[in-house]
Amino acid sequence: MKKFGPLQRVSPALIFVFSFMILLIAGCGTKPQQETSQSPRNPEKPVIIQGAMPIEAEKLANRLENVQTEKSGNFVFYKGTLNQYPVIVVKTGKGMENTAAATALAIEKYQPVAIINQGTSGGHDPGLHVFDIVLGKRVTHIGSFKTTDKEEGEGTDPSTWKPMDLMASEGSAGEDKNAEKIRYYEGDPELLKAALAVKNQYKNGKVVEGTIGSADLWNNEMDRIQWYHEKYGTSVEEMEGASAAQIADAYDVPFLGIRILSNNKTNAGKYNPDTAEACQEYVYHVVSKYISMLKNK
Ligand code: SAH
Repeated sequence: MKKFGPLQRVSPALIFVFSFMILLIAGCGTKPQQETSQSPRNPEKPVIIQGAMPIEAEKLANRLENVQTEKSGNFVFYKGTLNQYPVIVVKTGKGMENTAAATALAIEKYQPVAIINQGTSGGHDPGLHVFDIVLGKRVTHIGSFKTTDKEEGEGTDPSTWKPMDLMASEGSAGEDKNAEKIRYYEGDPELLKAALAVKNQYKNGKVVEGTIGSADLWNNEMDRIQWYHEKYGTSVEEMEGASAAQIADAYDVPFLGIRILSNNKTNAGKYNPDTAEACQEYVYHVVSKYISMLKNK
């Protein structure tokens, strides 16, 4: 009686050749590991574009292809593609809290390659007019202050307030002298490059680099506006950019604020809601350019 099967008689050399052929056939079915020079650096990572109000987000969402809508809390995520690249427009709602939460959520959910926060703003610079656009070379919080010491009956004087940087340390911001400084978040150089490369396509006003100031504040006091402009170099104010920039920075995600002037009290520029659409049109060109830069990386 035979104790072993027929394989027993197959020579080791043949087994080796067979195994080699099987490996070869299996290898043909899998994708090559390395990327070609044409493929994007992060093919799966979307570009995120934020807008606070419906008039600041929906036009861009309508420009995307293959859109699927997801909701979470008050936030709406329009997930689609632009030039075959994933892009998500987020309607964050107005203000710093909404924007911070929407930014953290988007980063955790979608691991974006970059975030653009865009929309309307009020001018602090008399040289800028309604429909001009500011690219946030810097974005800063203009609602975080430590007041001076005053006793009962001595009143309040916001012009003496010192900036308070809540990210300076984990200790008490009220006691820490190192926290008495303004913090600027720098706009990402690649996003800025894309924005500057398409600035001539914008015909409704000029596109300049500047400083965006954010807080849950609508300033109508001329002296206060001028104080911000002189002390912190603000070009415009709005209610979201610095909040998104802070969270993007915490996760090391490239960020840029892009703001159109919808009003400018310093030169009697009346509020015009049509600016929201003009801004989205420009941002569409910026994102197209950025995607082409990613694809050629
Ligand atoms: N005037 C608008 C109200 C907009 S509320 C209306 O009646 O519909 C404020 C929103 O507009 C915020 O999302 C903020 O980012 C932006 N904004 C535009 N101009 C602003 C300004 N001068 N100060 C603060 N936020 C401004």
